[in-house]
Amino acid sequence: MGISRVEQLFEEARSNLRKLRYNLAYDKFTEAMELAPERPEIHYNRGFAASLLYRWEEAIECFRMALRLDDHPDYWAHLGLARLHLRQWEEALYDFNRALEIDRGHRVAGAHRDDLVRFLGDQLRLAGATPPLCHGWYDPRLESYVGVDPEIVNKADRVQLREYIKEALDSPDAPGGCDHTHRFTEEWALHHGRDPLGVSRFLYDRGWRCDCEVLREGAGQKPASRTGELDSR
Ligand SMILES: [Zn+2]
Repeated sequence: MGISRVEQLFEEARSNLRKLRYNLAYDKFTEAMELAPERPEIHYNRGFAASLLYRWEEAIECFRMALRLDDHPDYWAHLGLARLHLRQWEEALYDFNRALEIDRGHRVAGAHRDDLVRFLGDQLRLAGATPPLCHGWYDPRLESYVGVDPEIVNKADRVQLREYIKEALDSPDAPGGCDHTHRFTEEWALHHGRDPLGVSRFLYDRGWRCDCEVLREGAGQKPASRTGELDSR
């Protein structure tokens, strides 16, 4: 009985992850965890949901709890990735090394370990520099997406959205063109009763990081790919 309730919550959580409802997924994993705190994969998936919400400290706590129950290389790798997001280089290196001790061929841990070793060994490294594989992870705009669920903007919506942006960028409202924010995207979302942050996060996560980049899809251009953590999923 107890087991089946946990399974049910776990499945609901995973289904919510697929629908980009990360907050709901996180809550379901939390419920499952409370019923079955001895199951490491629940902590791990809860950490994964927290990381999709850019809540890295919480993600770290979850991965550490998973690791107390099972010394799994994927848990170490994800712990390392969360630490990279917090710029905890030495700690991340330790975590990747632990993953590699268990699984020498761990692809994510191996790539980030090598990247970090080169980065930390660079005597001429500039203050504020980041490891090459983490390129794009520290965009200040991400701060505003902490805890925000993306709101799906489907293809038909995006056609409308592009028309709105094109018109706005050609108007006196935007004398300098795109200011490289989602200013008009968010305006469009508000006009349509949608969550402006959720909409802009959805587009950001897909590589359309400002209004003029959203327009590029209409010109048949592919968005800039997201690097790094997605490789491990
Ligand atoms: Zn722009």
